[in-house]
Amino acid sequence: MKEMTISKQLSEATAKLTAAGIESARLDAEVLLAYVLNTRRLALYVHIAKNITEAQIARYENLIKRRINHVPVAYLVGSKEFMGMNFAVTPDVLIPRPDTEVLAQGVIEHLHEYTGDLKLADIGTGSGAICISILKYIEHITAAAVDISKNALDIAQFNAEKFNVADRINFYEGNLLEPLKGQKFHVIVSNPPYIPTGEFKNLQPEISEEPHIALDGGADGLDFYKKIIDTAPDYLTDNGFLVFEVGQNQADSVSKLIEASGKFSSIQVWKDLANIERVVAAWKK
Ligand code: GLN
Repeated sequence: MKEMTISKQLSEATAKLTAAGIESARLDAEVLLAYVLNTRRLALYVHIAKNITEAQIARYENLIKRRINHVPVAYLVGSKEFMGMNFAVTPDVLIPRPDTEVLAQGVIEHLHEYTGDLKLADIGTGSGAICISILKYIEHITAAAVDISKNALDIAQFNAEKFNVADRINFYEGNLLEPLKGQKFHVIVSNPPYIPTGEFKNLQPEISEEPHIALDGGADGLDFYKKIIDTAPDYLTDNGFLVFEVGQNQADSVSKLIEASGKFSSIQVWKDLANIERVVAAWKK
């Protein structure tokens, strides 16, 4: 008979994931088992010698199989933590990255300098993680969240309701700033698709499980920055600012594009936890 203790299940799954070349094998094995048992990861160790049921093992083995096929853990468990909040995610949205917290935190810090009722636009909102976390931390702000994917907007709406900010967000299905014609914002944020088309083949296989339209930034990865920089000044208030997440080695090019537009007075680059230039922020002239 199969040994059914938590300890045994974890070590078997870890071995399978390691053999398949999954880097964080033990962690993934733990997260997925905790998900099946509807408990917290560290609680597994309190019950490490306990048996689990055949049905639970069957569900676990199925998840491990999908993980071996490079489905990201966030899609398997249906959520990802961002800014201390647990966002629902599906393969219709990009999985929020820890690096993006630098953007959200920076925007929150700068918004503290503004008083009165504020408006934010989030271009390509995806799961809504950026916009919703900012609204959660700043009360006197409302938001317009735009995405070209209806399925992504459904997830963002779900998350907005989950975190009780749905009454402060309007959702728009459409291309970049187009659906927001006539509106002005104190801050426009965007984590646009920025991976150069030719680079996909060099990326880890997990990326191919994520929506391509959320990642592909055209030949040089800069397509969406160019389009947004071109139109954003019309949508910013006088002292408003534009904030982008950028890919590795793109901060310089994006800063130059912003400078060349002649519409912005100061430009800042913010680094992420790995000391990589991750965010470009610019204030309208
Ligand atoms: N940070 C993502 C990655 O490199 C890319 C996100 C994006 O294109 N906006 O996997």
